[in-house]
Amino acid sequence: MELPGEPPRYEPTGLGHHHHFRCDGCARVFDFDACPGGLDALAPKGFVPERHELVLYGKCPECAAHKRGVGSRVRRPRQAPR
Ligand SMILES: [Zn+2]
Ligand SMILES: [Zn+2]
Repeated sequence: MELPGEPPRYEPTGLGHHHHFRCDGCARVFDFDACPGGLDALAPKGFVPERHELVLYGKCPECAAHKRGVGSRVRRPRQAPR
């Protein structure tokens, strides 16, 4: 697969249909199986989609937990269970 602005990276085949989550914190790319579906409908009339790629960007669980060095130092209290 290729991510915009990054050199192509190659994955073992046979993973099946999956998408990716790229962590902006550690720059790792994770696979996940979920697919929103219905993406073919986005193609303009007359175009025939045969495949798609989908990349979410954000923080992986590790980086989301640490949040170090980003933004203010104010720590939000953990949310109490409801
Ligand atoms: Zn991360
Ligand atoms: Zn998909």
